Amino acid sequence: MAFLDFNHERFKPGFEITSTFVVTNNYRMKDTEITNLLHNANLRVTKSRKEVLQALSETGDQAISSNEIEQKLSEIDRITLYRILKAYEDAGLVHSIADGTGKKKYAMCSSNCSEGDHQDNHVHFYCRVCDTTSCLNVVIPTNLKFPTNYLVEEQQFVVSGICKDCHNQ
Ligand SMILES: [Zn+2]
Ligand SMILES: [Zn+2]
Ligand SMILES: [Zn+2]
Repeated sequence: MAFLDFNHERFKPGFEITSTFVVTNNYRMKDTEITNLLHNANLRVTKSRKEVLQALSETGDQAISSNEIEQKLSEIDRITLYRILKAYEDAGLVHSIADGTGKKKYAMCSSNCSEGDHQDNHVHFYCRVCDTTSCLNVVIPTNLKFPTNYLVEEQQFVVSGICKDCHNQ
């Protein structure tokens, strides 16, 4: 996929950044919170399901691949992990990002998302130095003009560069 460059001229006129998305950084969810989240999403509560949510909540605004999730868990087979992630995406608990690295990344959704209805209209940032992808507190501009007869079904904004941690070093 092509990366969108915000410094490009076409994004300058009328480009607005609104900050409404709140990311909780490195928040470790309590066991009861995880159970409630699963109950509210009508999902069965299992040890693996709880662990996957825990792993995702721990990384905060950083999106992680299924391999990274797997490493954080005590024991899970890959098929089960994919099924859980798929169920979470369908339920509006987790969103996935194609950041151009070839590996799908996953991050927790905000509470605005619900079953079959994702509202993750924020920009994702890929840092080429530390090789991480984060959910950014920047809303995707809705004023993009598309040529006639192009029906947009989904939009993802991945910006690449150097993240604040690497930049401060
Ligand atoms: Zn979502
Ligand atoms: Zn970085
Ligand atoms: Zn995100």
